[in-house]
Amino acid sequence: MPDSIDSIKTDAQNINSANTASPVIQALFGGTFDPIHYGHLRPVEALAQLVGLKQVILLPNHVPPHRPQPEATAQQRLEMVRLAVRDNPLFTVDTRELERQSPSYTIETLKSFRQEIGEQHPLAFIIGQDSLQTLHTWYKWEELLDICHLLVCSRPGYQSQLSAPGMQSWLEKHQISSPLPLSQKPHGYIYPATTPLLNISATDIRQRHQQGISCDDLLPPSIQNYIDAQGLYKK
Ligand code: ATP
Repeated sequence: MPDSIDSIKTDAQNINSANTASPVIQALFGGTFDPIHYGHLRPVEALAQLVGLKQVILLPNHVPPHRPQPEATAQQRLEMVRLAVRDNPLFTVDTRELERQSPSYTIETLKSFRQEIGEQHPLAFIIGQDSLQTLHTWYKWEELLDICHLLVCSRPGYQSQLSAPGMQSWLEKHQISSPLPLSQKPHGYIYPATTPLLNISATDIRQRHQQGISCDDLLPPSIQNYIDAQGLYKK
């Protein structure tokens, strides 16, 4: 049986205290993870190598009742995230968004991490290129860089140029081409990383399950087993 959400906590401050000589960048990666797949894991692992991230905190999000619901429950999404990273010390899981009863706005989550780690510590939020394209629709998106850096993973089918009005100049103003400055400032940079292109989406995985098509190369075997055991994504 999966543990209760309450029993799974990540202590951001543990990570933070690991190295005081050169600041370790605290990196967060949020998503619905319905289900988590290699398109989430592999690019972020490559990003961690590029940037020198010691730890990435996965944040499964709370989807409020008035929004289209994930097919898996919050508990199932959390369990899949935990299974996917169980043997991978790069990742930990934080449940603060899942525990919220109100919309889990990224900006609010980032503020809570910022409060925990202090004003001077580098904080980064990881997104895929598709999320960068729609960033201007996020609640209080203009404030994101006042709190964190944005680390952007490549995703097939998405351009690096931003098409929404004004967004390309905003990107150019903040983007850096090397990860080095990220540890020298607490927030404010956008680093578009060149990470492996994996043409995988949770939507496609759910559709494949519905149609009985194999997902073997798309997600870890432990997640596939969990999906089968729980009878997920059949309808
Ligand atoms: P769905 O198909 O249900 O929209 P998804 O596969 O895009 O889901 P999410 O949980 O919505 O997964 O994504 C969480 C984060 O992971 C987002 O920032 C998204 O841009 C990024 N991401 C998801 N899939 C990929 C991928 N294949 N390559 C790079 N980034 C990805």
